[in-house]
Amino acid sequence: MSGGPADSLRLLCILAHPDDESLGLGGILAKYGAEGVETYLVTATRGEKGWFGPPEEYPGLAELGRIREGELKDAAKVLGLREVTLLDYQDGELDKADQGLFTQQLVHHIRRIRPQVVVTFDHNGVYGHPDHIAATRAATAATLAAADAGFDEPSGLPPHAVSKLYYFAWTDEVRQAYEAAFGELVMQINGVERRAVPWPHWTISTWIDTSAHWTTVWEAIKCHCTQLPGYQKLLDLPEEYHRVLWGRLTFHRVLTLVPTTDPEDDMFAGIRLSART
Ligand SMILES: [Zn+2]
Repeated sequence: MSGGPADSLRLLCILAHPDDESLGLGGILAKYGAEGVETYLVTATRGEKGWFGPPEEYPGLAELGRIREGELKDAAKVLGLREVTLLDYQDGELDKADQGLFTQQLVHHIRRIRPQVVVTFDHNGVYGHPDHIAATRAATAATLAAADAGFDEPSGLPPHAVSKLYYFAWTDEVRQAYEAAFGELVMQINGVERRAVPWPHWTISTWIDTSAHWTTVWEAIKCHCTQLPGYQKLLDLPEEYHRVLWGRLTFHRVLTLVPTTDPEDDMFAGIRLSART
């Protein structure tokens, strides 16, 4: 089914900024990595505009990008990631970049890695972030295009059909815990206010228990030292909030090519079965 070796399970997360992998998907990366799944990450930008220190101490785009790349690599080690790929898009500008080229680059990485499972944000970018929305759109297009033998990308790798594509689907409980930690999540884009758009429980296909790994996720989050001033409330939060935030992750399964029933508690359900038989 996967086109790869039957004994090798591979998970690819396609995200926008360093720290999305820890704050967002750290639970599944830690869990599946610990279970022996090969975990891969493609991050589109270096987050070089994410500065919480005094403005006069801002190190500049290139230097902050270099620092955040290092933080991402440290977090990846904690989470047990097999590989991190950084694309060279500008933080805050991903939606203005050439979307066809971005998709083509993602097709290349999907065909190279041959994951059975791809995970990205949701179509609302979780809380309206334009970079997240752009990543979701391109990851979705690339998942479909990677399987299409008629879609060319320069390296000429053979097509690969991803078995399952997931969107990260925040419940309202998680949104509330996030807002307790970070304050209100609100963005002004083109004069319009954007807020988190939680998913009702009935839209959630996949509930993953990551409670055994929440301390690993927390260690990974703390690798993002430049971001810690923005996490101050998070640092002070009691343990029960951490458990809500990192102890269970919820997803909407966008597509599956393998036998699947709802609700699932494993992204590799159906895939594990076909790998064994
Ligand atoms: Zn982000």
